[in-house]
Formats: sequence, C-alpha cells, structure tokens
Amino acid sequence: MMDFAFLKYAIDLIAVLLLSLGIKGLSKVRSAREANRLAAIAMILAVVAVIVDFLGSSGISFYAWTWIIVGGLVGGLLGMVTAQKVPMTAMPETVALFNGCGGMSSLLVAIGVVLFLGDGEGKTFDLVENISLVVSVFVGAITFSGSIVAMAKLQGWLSTPVWTQSKLRHAINSGFAILSLVGAIELLLTGQSGLWLLVIGSSFLGIGVTLPIGGADMPVVISLLNSYSGVAAAAAGFVVQSQLLIVAGAMVGAAGLILTQVMCNGMNRSLVSVLFGGALGTGSSLTESGSSEYINITSCSVEECALTIEAAERVVFVPGYGLAVAQAQHTLREVTRVLEASGIDVCYAIHPVAGRMPGHMNVLLAEADVPYEQLKEMDVVNPEFPATDVVVVLGANDVVNPQAKNDPNSPLYGMPVLDVCEARTIFVVKRGMSAGYSGIKNDLFERANTSMVFGDAKKVLGDLLVELKELGVGRKS
Ligand code: NDP
Repeated sequence: MMDFAFLKYAIDLIAVLLLSLGIKGLSKVRSAREANRLAAIAMILAVVAVIVDFLGSSGISFYAWTWIIVGGLVGGLLGMVTAQKVPMTAMPETVALFNGCGGMSSLLVAIGVVLFLGDGEGKTFDLVENISLVVSVFVGAITFSGSIVAMAKLQGWLSTPVWTQSKLRHAINSGFAILSLVGAIELLLTGQSGLWLLVIGSSFLGIGVTLPIGGADMPVVISLLNSYSGVAAAAAGFVVQSQLLIVAGAMVGAAGLILTQVMCNGMNRSLVSVLFGGALGTGSSLTESGSSEYINITSCSVEECALTIEAAERVVFVPGYGLAVAQAQHTLREVTRVLEASGIDVCYAIHPVAGRMPGHMNVLLAEADVPYEQLKEMDVVNPEFPATDVVVVLGANDVVNPQAKNDPNSPLYGMPVLDVCEARTIFVVKRGMSAGYSGIKNDLFERANTSMVFGDAKKVLGDLLVELKELGVGRKS
C-alpha cells in the first residue's frame, strides 16, 4: 500500500529545494528566467502535495475535486493571461495585486479554519495555532487591503486625500489598531469570537497606512507588502500545519524584508519615515513646482548632440522610465555599438529606483543584450562623472534631480541620485518639460552644461544613430 504521508513529505521537500534555488537564481538577470520556472514548478508541486495528503487521509469528495479543478483552472488562466498581457511599465501594480492575492489567501485560510474547524463553543486550538491564526488574519488583511490601495494609487485610480497628510491620520490609524488589538485578544482567548472585528480593524489599518504614502516611497511599500504576504503565508502554514507553506512564507517574508531594506538605503529613507512620513512628491508637490517655472532652458538638435558625442572619449547613458515607455533599449544598444566601434568608452548608470520596479533598467537593458559589466551601480558610477565627457539622460528625471542633494525643502531631499551634473556636458532626452514620478521640477534642466534634446527617446536615438553614422563614427578604429 502506498505511503501517502511519506510521498507528501518527499514532494514538499523537492518543492522547497526548487523554491530556494528559484529565489537564489532571481538575484542574477542571467539566471532569472530559469529561476522563475523552477519556482513555478515548486508551486505546482505544492498543490500536488496537498492533494496527495488528502488522498492519504480522508480522500477527496467529488464536490472538493470540482472546486480544486475549477479553482486551479481559473487561477492558472488568470495568472497566465496577466503575465502575458501586462506591460513591463505596469509591473509594480501587478506585483501589488499579486501580493494582495497572497494576503487574501492567508486571510481566507485562517477565516476558514476558525469558522469550520473550531467547535464554536470554546478554545479548540493550541496556543501556537491560536497565535498563528491571529497573525494570519491580521497580516493577511493588512496585506490584502494595503496592496489593493497601492495598486489603485499606482494605476492612478486613487490619489492621496489631503486629510491623510495631517496628524489626524495617526489618530484614525491608532483607532483601527486598537480595534484590531481588541479583536485579536478576543480571538486568542475564545478561538472564534473577535474574528470579524480583527478582520475589519486590520483591513482598515492596511488602507489607512498605505493611503498617505505616495511618490517615490511606493516601491518600498510594495516590497514591504510582499514581505507581509510571506509572513501571512507562514502563519497560515502553522494554522494548517503545512511545513511547505511555513518555509516558503518565511523565505518570501525574509526576501521582501531584505529588498525593503535595500530600497530604503537606495533612497536614503528610513522605513519609519516611509510608513509614517506621508506622501513624498506625487500630487502634493505637482502644484508647487510645475513645468511653467523653468527658465533658461537650452535645447539643441540631434545633430549638435551627435557632434559632441563624436568628440567624446567617455559617454555615460542614464536610462529611466521614459526609455522603457519608448521601448528604445534596442536602438540605444545600436548607438552604443557604433560608439564602441570608434573606441569611445561607454557605460550605463543604473539608479536602484529608475523606472517603475526594482531592477527595471537591468531587465530592460538585458533584453537588448547590453553586457552586464557595462551596467554601473550608482555608488560605482557617481565618482566617475567628473571625468565623463558626455552624459545622455534617456527618459530619466527624478533619479538625476540635484534637488535631492541641494534643496532641503524638496520632497526628494535625501534620496541618493546620479550626480550627472558633474559631467562636462549633459544631454537630456525627453518629450517635453513634464515632471517625473515625484511630480517636481528638475533643476538639472536649467544647468549651464545641460541641453535638452526634445523628442521620444526611440526616435531621438534612431536619429542619433543616423547622424553618428553620417559623421563616420563606428568606422574609425
Ligand atoms: P521619472 O518618472 O522621474 O521620469 C520619467 C521621464 O520620462 C518623464 O519626465 C517623462 O518626461 C519622460 N518620458 C516619458 N515618456 C518618454 C518617451 N517616450 N521618451 C522620452 N522621455 C519620456 O523616471 P525615473 O526613472 O528618473 O525615476 C523613477 C521614479 O519612479 C522615481 O521617482 C521612483 O521613486 C519612482 N518609482 C520607482 C519604482 C521602482 O521600483 N523603480 C516603482 C514606482 C515608482 P516627458 O513626458 O516630458 O517626456
């Protein structure tokens, strides 16, 4: 007779190993695709392990099979379609949505256990299970509601209400926290009542904490919510006694926390100021520093830009969100190939929060076969700018804004930026004078050594390629 329990543990173990390898592989662009595949296989195995477990214990009724198959098909199909359809620029919203789904799953598992496995008359769970239930409901609800708010804000469906920027929000959030605490204590003591109070309190707390956050802080919040979804899953693992869920949840929780720390360092922000400091930039500052305030802007043609680049020994390209929107990475690679063929030293300066998701620029440039060694992190490239002849800023704005260093009143103040203004000549390629994600003015555009090259990044790079070739760049040795 088949030993179902052994089979389940064996499948769980393989799934954990594959998931660990997957998470490790995601740290390098080169292995990321394969790593994603491994992690997906791990998730399929996790579902198989649960089915095996049921087969070994109580068996699976026709009714349960129907739900498993329908749920698997609907969820799998939705995931596949979303993954194929979503543009790279909408990735943060998608990640926020997926985090929310993770939080909701843990929440539903915990609610299901309380409602259907408890006897309703007294405490039926041991202390560890009870604490896990409370954590699962609390963190799961915060993750779910917070992620939905984050997604809606990134999508532009929700703005930051003015009242959330006042001290009132701390009082309101404290109220929700107290409600959650009362619900949690009641649930801990009784094993059943207090559940809905905890669900409602923590759901509103998730909304109340996420709603005021905006602008450049959003990536940090998303990675924190990602970590929360892992914590909620690990707690749900204790509730349903799934070692796999505990291990996977702990890994996601830890990975999300590390990423949050990395992002906070990248922006020179503390987690406390992100969570309690209010909106940074977007919306609130748009009105204060709009495009109309620019004076002394110098613009030039692509021909002039090509002439300066032709005479340079070292050129640094700074990719930003606009490059991703224009899908200009392949044209950029063609331009840099021509420059390299002429012996011009070329590299790419990568800011940790350029674009709209962590690693956005690395992924974008990897798509265009840019050699990894030419991608330079901010800390490495910043000291090199004074010795750089030409910097070409391509659809980047906030990540090169000197206000972040020079203006204590700026919403960006404190965020480390690329010191492109230290270079001899700077060309900024963008379509007009619109602000970046943080919604504020960029002093770089008014600098004496900056020239704007107006146009869509792909079009400008295409024209630049033609001009460079006409000048004979790429034919020299
Ligand atoms: P920004 O959002 O600051 O600026 C992008 C610029 O690109 C705009 O000013 C826009 O100006 C220009 N642009 C748009 N489309 C085109 C186009 N087709 N061709 C040329 N230019 C174009 O981008 P950055 O990358 O500098 O900064 C990223 C910002 O996003 C930071 O504030 C960061 O905190 C935030 N963020 C980052 C996330 C991450 O994880 N990386 C996630 C969420 C937010 P114009 O319209 O005039 O052309």
